[in-house]
Amino acid sequence: TMISGPVAQLVESSEITKENKRLLDIVQRNIRRMLRLVNQHLDFNKLENDTLKLAVKPIDVIGQLINLTDIFRVSAEEKGIFFKAYGLEDSMTVWADDDKLDKICFNLLSNALKFTPAGGSVTVELKALHGQIRLSVTDTGCGIDPETGKHIFEKFYQGDTSHCVQGNGLGLALVKRVIDIMQGEIGVESAVGVGTTFTVKIRRI
Ligand code: ADP
Repeated sequence: TMISGPVAQLVESSEITKENKRLLDIVQRNIRRMLRLVNQHLDFNKLENDTLKLAVKPIDVIGQLINLTDIFRVSAEEKGIFFKAYGLEDSMTVWADDDKLDKICFNLLSNALKFTPAGGSVTVELKALHGQIRLSVTDTGCGIDPETGKHIFEKFYQGDTSHCVQGNGLGLALVKRVIDIMQGEIGVESAVGVGTTFTVKIRRI
């Protein structure tokens, strides 16, 4: 906060040149990345000490997903990736922690964009099932080989993604544990060179 506040003010300044504004945009993006990483570590510590509390309440999952997909649509456009979202028309209430649900969706969407090259596509689909909602994020990216697939939900595990982009191996492990606490389910189907689908199921009201 101490870094991002002044940077946000600088970005708004009318005296800033176009080139410096571009650089400050990069600074802001990296601050957000750092903040996410710190928060993921904090959440993990809480999970490991058994003190991570879920603030579970009825939430409008569609409204939340629309906000999130709007952000990712912009990044997809920047990367030359087709972005499609289905099933976000009506309203749907789930019994969940909105902050944690946000983190789950954020992680799946950022991985999908990270591991998909330009010209590929990322598709989000929300479906109401009996007593549950099913959210799937599908990409046409590099895919996950079966050996890597066995470990992706482990803390700090990273696949051999040298041909793709590097990360930190924390996101999916946190996603899996939070979904377990919510008594939901997460599954993955993938084929190398074809793409990946992550599917999350959460209890619906
Ligand atoms: P990170 O992406 O920061 O490495 P994650 O825990 O989110 O950490 O993911 C763990 C690993 O799972 C990644 O390193 C990558 O090998 C694999 N992975 C996750 N999502 C995808 C995807 N959509 N396509 C291909 N590989 C993926």
